[in-house]
Amino acid sequence: MLPYWADLPGVSMTDYTNSPLAQQLNSHQREAVFHDKGPLLVFAGAGSGKTRVLTYRIAHLIMERGVDPWRILAVTFTNKAAQEMRERVESLVGPEHLERGTIQMGTFHSIGARLLRRYGKAIGIRPDFTIYDTGDQRALIKRILKELNLDDKLLPVQLVASVLDRAKNGARDPASMVVGGSERSKPLRAVLETYAREMRRNNALDFGDLLAEMLHLLEQSEEVRNKLQGRFDYLLVDEAQDTNLVQYRLLRLLLGPGRNICLVGDDDQSIYRWRGARVENLTDFREDFPEAQVVVLGRNYRSTKTILDAAAAVIEGNPERQPKELFTENPMGEPIILFRGDDEYDEAHFLVEQIRDLLKEDFSAGDVAIFYRTNAQSRLIEEELVKRGISYVIVGGTRFYERKEIKDLLAYARLVVNPDDSVSLLRIINTPTRGIGAKALLALTDKARELEVSPYRALEQTAHDSAPRLKNAFIVFEKMVETWRQRDQGGESPSVILTDIVETSGYGSLLRRGDGPEFEARLENVAELIAAVREYENKNEQPTLLGFLENAALVSDPDTYEHSQQAISLMTLHCAKGLEFPAVMISGLEDGLLPHSRSLDDPDGDGEERRLFYVGITRAQRRLFLTWAGRRLGRMGYSQTRASRFLRDLPLNLVKNLGPPPLSVPLFDHGQTTQQRAREPFVQHESRIEFDHHPDYSAPQGHAPETTIQSAGSHELSPGQRIQHGVFGEGRVVEAEPYFDAQRVTVVFNSGERKVFLTRWAKLKTID
Ligand code: ATP
Ligand code: MG
Repeated sequence: MLPYWADLPGVSMTDYTNSPLAQQLNSHQREAVFHDKGPLLVFAGAGSGKTRVLTYRIAHLIMERGVDPWRILAVTFTNKAAQEMRERVESLVGPEHLERGTIQMGTFHSIGARLLRRYGKAIGIRPDFTIYDTGDQRALIKRILKELNLDDKLLPVQLVASVLDRAKNGARDPASMVVGGSERSKPLRAVLETYAREMRRNNALDFGDLLAEMLHLLEQSEEVRNKLQGRFDYLLVDEAQDTNLVQYRLLRLLLGPGRNICLVGDDDQSIYRWRGARVENLTDFREDFPEAQVVVLGRNYRSTKTILDAAAAVIEGNPERQPKELFTENPMGEPIILFRGDDEYDEAHFLVEQIRDLLKEDFSAGDVAIFYRTNAQSRLIEEELVKRGISYVIVGGTRFYERKEIKDLLAYARLVVNPDDSVSLLRIINTPTRGIGAKALLALTDKARELEVSPYRALEQTAHDSAPRLKNAFIVFEKMVETWRQRDQGGESPSVILTDIVETSGYGSLLRRGDGPEFEARLENVAELIAAVREYENKNEQPTLLGFLENAALVSDPDTYEHSQQAISLMTLHCAKGLEFPAVMISGLEDGLLPHSRSLDDPDGDGEERRLFYVGITRAQRRLFLTWAGRRLGRMGYSQTRASRFLRDLPLNLVKNLGPPPLSVPLFDHGQTTQQRAREPFVQHESRIEFDHHPDYSAPQGHAPETTIQSAGSHELSPGQRIQHGVFGEGRVVEAEPYFDAQRVTVVFNSGERKVFLTRWAKLKTID
């Protein structure tokens, strides 16, 4: 409901100074939050409250303007950010306002998936489609190359995948990307066309399709367009500098007559160009919406003056950017610590020593984050943290849903939901072995091609033409899947079906028969998967296997991040976007790593890497550490490194070097401008750097208290009992409930992590 004076002439809608929200915003932020109607662009540097403005604007619309929550569509960069924003809005507006519906929030991909399931029929998309991740996409491309008798050296899978991605993110038909008549163009076109046909037959969409097909839907179906254009009164997008062309077009098509669109972004933080992000969307927005109100936020609330000045000095090195002034009222703070280790071991050692020092101050482990450019850099740091008994959480790396046993079981589940999914079928039809060998599979796929159906639908016919033993194997397999299908369609809960899949398929006993820690870990992962399904069931009112699979398919690295006050956070710079930590350490500041050597092929590669560094620096609230290694082990053995060119831009008065003394060696000796040389901290003003001695690394390590360990074996666990787990260490059972012929227990570990296990699979030992 609008306030009573809303329609009175001369009364400004922006007069919300008495709003409870206004107390927590500065005047520029208020301008954006209480902006009346029409397009709005919030363009501002890091830590200036952009995400806060977006969140408060949603709260304001619901609470003070009577907008129904379901009329609002908010797009965030990760599912996790959406979840956090939703919680924050809920706490601002209170439950009574949210009874009017659910705010539509999520990433473009998750929103695309949701809308396609609902409305995709208009362009021939079935609601039970499967989402193919990059691994599935590659498996399909590989199979197509084989079927077309093409050499994957001539046409690497990665090349095909990247053509597909670029086309779909750029709103183009993949086949139209192939121009000219080179040796590769004809086969490439054939692969792309077969891929498109196969995807339809598989009833599957890849990540690019979730956006591209959504765009097709809105462009091609007038009925759906009419329905959806008025559906959302307000569109709001965070991190708009990293949207791609399709996403921008989607926004324009979803826009209702009120043109209430709000983009929030910072061109200096555009770091996903390699995935099709176009910072130009921000400039296009100004042209496409000339009436848009533009709000610039200048005050940074996050970082100390020192950190902010360093960030500004680094980003100023990018020639093509919109200059922005960013200031802070925060204190000057501590200098930025620089350290060059002799090698990567020395660097990791230093980082961990510094963490130990921080922990002696008022920092807790959860306040500290270490960033790096590539996932591979984490290994040594992890080893060092383990040695020193410091808990950590790592974001990304080998993702849970990419593990073999998890992919196998999800393939079963996907087949249950969508039997046309041939990538899943071929993955598990003979896992565990059922006597359906390579020759039998070939007969099956040939038959499918002949009948122009998916392999699953060709099972019966192939069985009919096969020898008795194989025939039986095909029939038993099909029957098994059909039984699960009926149970799923009958509304049985996903966790029960999945548990049955584990047992009836023989996958569980396959793992239990295996010997050694690898199999134990796999069994634990299976238990973890079932726990994840249960968690999904608890959070959703109408849980379905399809719904769980969709969540699992759309999980991205940053979504897996569970912050804990007791653990250091480790992640790549890309994952750090939008986050903040009291203390930040950026490691591997070397030419070749940051900027990454791959960026050299790209004309704006250097600029993008510099923005990545800027994103890293601006995550820090109070303390910042920048480290690199003098030599590093690469594929060709050890080689000398050069300090990152970006370090040259750090003003001398902001840094303190804790590295070994040979800093008089001009570290930054390549291609400097005069202006940069004037700022050069190490050569001209060397005497102004404090040279601390090497930290003492010989401090004794703490010993874990001795414990008596007994196997939990067959006896039951009960709340309060202390247990030991191979990976997570010691903890206490807080909940225990019967679960089929075993127990499902919730354990809180000493690290603060909370985990759910099935006792049948997890190796938990009781401790006296
Ligand atoms: P990024 O560019 O990194 O995405 P951002 O511009 O989205 O940053 P926020 O994350 O919204 O910035 O805010 C940065 C920090 O400043 C947060 O801790 C936020 O709570 C705080 N903050 C923002 N505005 C205010 C304010 N008016 N008063 C107090 N704290 C604020
Ligand atoms: Mg933000």
